[in-house]
Amino acid sequence: MPLDAQTGTIIRGTAVVAGLAHGSARWVRRSDLLDPEAADSGAAGAAGAPASDSAGDSVSGDADGAAPDSERLDRERQRFVEATATVGERLDQRAALATGVSAEVLSANAVLARDRGWAKAVTKELKKGLGVEAATVAATETFVEMFTRIGGRQAERITDLRNICARVIAELRGLPEPGVPEFSEPGVLLADDLAPADTAGLDPAMVLAIVCEYGGPTSHTAIIARQLGIPCIVAASGLGAVAEGARVLVDGATGTVEVGPDEQSASEAAAADKAMRVKAAGWTGPAVLADGHPVDLLANVQDGDGAAAAAAGPAGGIGLFRTELAFLDQPEEPTVAEQAELYARVLGAFPDSKVVTRTLDAGSDKPLAFAGMTEEENPALGVRGIRVDLLDRGLVDRQLDALAEAGRQVGGAQSSPWVMAPMIATVDEARDFGERCRERGLTPGIMVEVPSVAVAVDRFLPHIDFLSIGTNDLTQYVMAADRMSSELAALTDPWQPAVLRLIRTVAEAGAAAPDGRVVPVGVCGEAAADPHLAMVLLGLGVSSLSAATAAVPFVGAALAEVTLERCRELAALALDSDTAREARAAVIDAVRA
Ligand code: PEP
Ligand code: MG
Repeated sequence: MPLDAQTGTIIRGTAVVAGLAHGSARWVRRSDLLDPEAADSGAAGAAGAPASDSAGDSVSGDADGAAPDSERLDRERQRFVEATATVGERLDQRAALATGVSAEVLSANAVLARDRGWAKAVTKELKKGLGVEAATVAATETFVEMFTRIGGRQAERITDLRNICARVIAELRGLPEPGVPEFSEPGVLLADDLAPADTAGLDPAMVLAIVCEYGGPTSHTAIIARQLGIPCIVAASGLGAVAEGARVLVDGATGTVEVGPDEQSASEAAAADKAMRVKAAGWTGPAVLADGHPVDLLANVQDGDGAAAAAAGPAGGIGLFRTELAFLDQPEEPTVAEQAELYARVLGAFPDSKVVTRTLDAGSDKPLAFAGMTEEENPALGVRGIRVDLLDRGLVDRQLDALAEAGRQVGGAQSSPWVMAPMIATVDEARDFGERCRERGLTPGIMVEVPSVAVAVDRFLPHIDFLSIGTNDLTQYVMAADRMSSELAALTDPWQPAVLRLIRTVAEAGAAAPDGRVVPVGVCGEAAADPHLAMVLLGLGVSSLSAATAAVPFVGAALAEVTLERCRELAALALDSDTAREARAAVIDAVRA
């Protein structure tokens, strides 16, 4: 049993839907419906022995002990079929009342409840002598194991499977359907994981935010939370330590949950954020400061669908296309033709605007099956990003070939695509990357993630045409703090004054490159998704900002309220602070004043 999280603890997860929410934690704990120990049966492990059933319909007890095996099998199978039919029907009814993605996922779940492969697997378990509940759980876990092995999006479907299974078990036991309890007053919903069937019925007036310990940003829960406009964080490790009823401040833009925040400032911040969200919902771009100064406000994407979604919104282009995320579930390297097709889709989403593709940032928390990486003691400091050249230069070369081909296909403004390398640390790497890009007619840039680049940036500039600051990694390496660690979240905060100073150094160097050029300097880390920090970044001299598509309207609407001069004043306030907390508070107070 973990200790309850202390006041001031910050839990970090994956930001899914931006927005601040302040309220009391309401837990949806996973029920014991899926616990094999609690299920009927044979679950206790009596392989081959007839099972008893906790629903009272015992097949091994006095009443039914003599039932022939085939009769038992037929009856148990029939109970499973009836229970799944009832669960499927209920989901269909809810789907008929819902709209959009909610309706789609509820219908898909109803289909899953009637899945023939699942029914077959249950029969197989029944034949081993398990009772119907244990057989249902065991068959489900077989699929869970398979989906876990496959990984990627399949693994995100595990929640759906387990949720359907829990519903069927409840039906078999004659219990009410499991799910989210009714909220009598607004609160923050915390869960190990939520199934779409739970999320689809949530009332945004009552559920101020959703935070899950597990789940991924592309899970159905995330998709529905986005549709409902409920701030949402997933993969919040350590969430289990937050006590029922604890006061929390959830920041869906940065992916953090603060336990026991200062009540007054948290509720003011949440109220101001809500007002801003209403404004953002009506913001359609393009991004312009209050003094008419235009801002390059771009989107971070990971595939063709993401690029299309960004193009349907107010983003002015793409500032970071994370190619490695498009290939995470691919066992083999896609061919140059396959890659070119994908890249052309992304470039084609913004035929007349800036689109920045990043070469593979494999390694560390993003292992790519085909990149040939081996286990490392310290992967964040190991072979990742451009260092994949050490294993096989062909990987990046083929990406560049494919991108050049995509540029030819799309043509126009995209005929010389912008491309940048992640994790550049030395001038030699930058020079080499620049040459490989120029040979192919590409526009080369590098990411500023390793402090060595920021410190000696003037030496890198002659070799490239643009810089993009990855504040997630830059902060990790400047502060010597693992970006994945929730305990160190206060250190890996891009408001750290030391990080802000380095950003200023880079932006100033780009504006006055030694060869007389102006080299554009963007920010594409999570920092750009924080509207207040976005103001500071512009004040530091950054020329473009790139954030998750969902965050773009929040940043755009906030920037419309300030002038460039004001941004410079805010940057000065942040730089004049000793700590990240002080810097953030100084800027937020000044904006509100
Ligand atoms: C960053 O490090 O800020 C960045 C944008 O790259 P990633 O988050 O993909 O490592
Ligand atoms: Mg990075």
